[in-house]
Amino acid sequence: MNEETTIVPQQPAAPPEHPAVRQANLTSDYVVLAIGVLASLAVVGLVFLTSIASFIYGTEVVAEETGASPVEDFFGNLFGIAIVVGVALAFILTLIRMMRQQMLGNALQVEYSDYAWLREWSNQVAKDLHMPRVEIMVTQDPVINAYAFGFATPYTIVLHSGSIRWLTHEQLKAVVVHEMAHVKYRHTQIGTYLNLLRMIPVIGTLNGWLLDFWGRRAELTADRLALCYLRDGKLVKESLIGVHVGPDVATSFNDIAQQWQVYMTDNYFNRFTQTFSSHPFLVRRLRHIDAKTEEFTPIWPPKTTIVRKKPITKKETAASDAATEETTR
Ligand SMILES: [Zn+2]
Repeated sequence: MNEETTIVPQQPAAPPEHPAVRQANLTSDYVVLAIGVLASLAVVGLVFLTSIASFIYGTEVVAEETGASPVEDFFGNLFGIAIVVGVALAFILTLIRMMRQQMLGNALQVEYSDYAWLREWSNQVAKDLHMPRVEIMVTQDPVINAYAFGFATPYTIVLHSGSIRWLTHEQLKAVVVHEMAHVKYRHTQIGTYLNLLRMIPVIGTLNGWLLDFWGRRAELTADRLALCYLRDGKLVKESLIGVHVGPDVATSFNDIAQQWQVYMTDNYFNRFTQTFSSHPFLVRRLRHIDAKTEEFTPIWPPKTTIVRKKPITKKETAASDAATEETTR
């Protein structure tokens, strides 16, 4: 084994991971995720224990009728639940793969299309972030939006045609890096499995509410990666504003208007209202980007001094030029 691996020493060293990945990542996200999962499991456990109690309570009746012991009941119950979870998981994973097939069947996959600049650029981002390549699909939907899904390669990012229509290429990049962050930090993967807790009848709604505390933090993390990778807070904010208020008034949402709404929403009732939303409110995302821009700007090198250390082969030069051209537009 070792000898086999030493046969190929001429393999060029991979370029270091972009510092944005570490900058945008927060340990507290995982703490909130763990608390959310534990709280959801506690809810499930409570319901499960209640059902066990009812089994034990009704043991005499059960024992009289079937001769089963409470222990057999318990393990029988557990086995039944394991089967249900297995079937539910297979169902979820199949649905996600079908979603991809549906996109392949109906949407534009940019891979071999004439809209290739986005593919070249996202492949470069994937290399920088040390993550698998993502496939980008464009589907007809006038609403400016985008989303990512997948639990293993290939991961898919879907852009609504409204995003292509109304966002500039630079704003679109901010949206795409945000979506790639969901893949890089395994949000799409974790989200897939968390669906098991959300799908449980009745208590699934409560579980969803508990798990969304992590979901909203994941959104802020994705915003941070877009910020730290592109190093342009204004651009990331513009893309978020475009997505939230639409293209007609996006440019009217000026600094004063932003500050006013941030001020008006800085209260507990607004925060409570936000707990019923899958995403943080726009005002909080804008404020978060402002705060992080202020925090990170001193440690970012000036854009002009960034030197790509990756050795560029002749074959790749054309693609790199195209990507660089887009980056500096
Ligand atoms: Zn997101």
